Amino acid sequence: MTSSARPADPAGTAARPPLNRRLAEFGTTIFAEMSALALRTGSINLGQGFPDTDGPEEIREAAVRALRDGRGNQYPPGPGVPELRAAVTAHQLRRYGLTFDPDTEVLVTAGATEAIAAALLGLLEPGDEVVALEPYYDSYAACVAMAGGRRVPVTLRPHEGRFRLDLDELRAAVTDRTRLLLINTPHNPTGTVLTRAELTAIAELAVERDLLVVTDEVYEHLVFDDAEHLPLATFPGMRDRTVTIGSAGKTFSFTGWKVGWITAPRELVSAVRSAKQYLTYVASGPFQYAVAEALRLPDSYFDEFRADMRAKRDLLAGGLERAGFKVFRPAGTYFITTDIRPLGESDGFAFCRSLPEHCGVVAIPNAVFYDHREQGAPFVRFAFCKRTGVLEEAARRLKTLGA
Ligand code: PMP
Ligand code: GLN
Repeated sequence: MTSSARPADPAGTAARPPLNRRLAEFGTTIFAEMSALALRTGSINLGQGFPDTDGPEEIREAAVRALRDGRGNQYPPGPGVPELRAAVTAHQLRRYGLTFDPDTEVLVTAGATEAIAAALLGLLEPGDEVVALEPYYDSYAACVAMAGGRRVPVTLRPHEGRFRLDLDELRAAVTDRTRLLLINTPHNPTGTVLTRAELTAIAELAVERDLLVVTDEVYEHLVFDDAEHLPLATFPGMRDRTVTIGSAGKTFSFTGWKVGWITAPRELVSAVRSAKQYLTYVASGPFQYAVAEALRLPDSYFDEFRADMRAKRDLLAGGLERAGFKVFRPAGTYFITTDIRPLGESDGFAFCRSLPEHCGVVAIPNAVFYDHREQGAPFVRFAFCKRTGVLEEAARRLKTLGA
């Protein structure tokens, strides 16, 4: 064999991209991409969902106190500090009448993101199917893939001003290989809050087909008007098959603290903990103490937070409508999904990539949350968890689009 005929790389390693096949389809998260675009262009960032003001001062002070007092500066206990586990169970009881044992039925995680990852890694066998509501939060697809599972999307479709779950499609999506339903209510990015009837049907299906349910309820306190957040775990037959995920990031406006948790029956917590202990093991020590105090804030905190976000929703929704978007007024979360077709546009990706240049605003193309990308193409998401002046300026800028 002449040297020119010899492969340059006999082992074939050079030809193989370093990223494994499970993750190859995911690339960089849209949130990183769009926040970088906002920074680069000096645009108003209504893309990534984080508030531009911090949460309650007394809770920030509680974190400072914990740091100074040396609480949580070394590894906290694996399941989370007892104060936070007790506060989580007290919260579930006070708000929803759900009882959990703080020692065995709660697990503190590094944000809801780790809770999702650990739940899927701990509960799925390779090849198991996971039925999830599409569009879905981006980490769901990546974590199902990392766990070797197969995602089966059920698409929420616009119907009378909201994105609705088709219960027949949901039932049809369940097969003998389905291991769990991955639910999210209030729903990011559509702002849909699942109704009692929808949740009843999900619960009946889970019981009938003996499925586990992982339910991401990080926006539990962000519901508006007549909408009500009903935890899936409160439905008949659900407490013992449901992993409920919560997070301090959204409720208390401290997204950088990364304090999340699950509540679930003992065996499920134990399975999730098996995975979690090899991810971060533990995280956010001093912040856990502060979040324990936050969860015990009086109802007035939660009511005011909701009223403030509702006013912001109305402000941005009005601005988007005046700019020519079709607006799906959200019943929950701090996101508004819009349809850009009335503006003569149909490709949300192209629209979002050119929006900073056109008017100095950044948004998220909903297509990234879809397996059926074409279904999400005309939809674009705007976050309204920003100061009033920022939303007013964004509305002014967006209005120039139609001009
Ligand atoms: N689930 C949903 C639906 C979200 O929107 C987010 C983003 N906050 C997360 C999970 C992740 O939450 P955390 O920041 O607590 O990891
Ligand atoms: N949950 C936030 C959103 O949907 C983003 C969180 C992240 O950047 N991973 O905007």
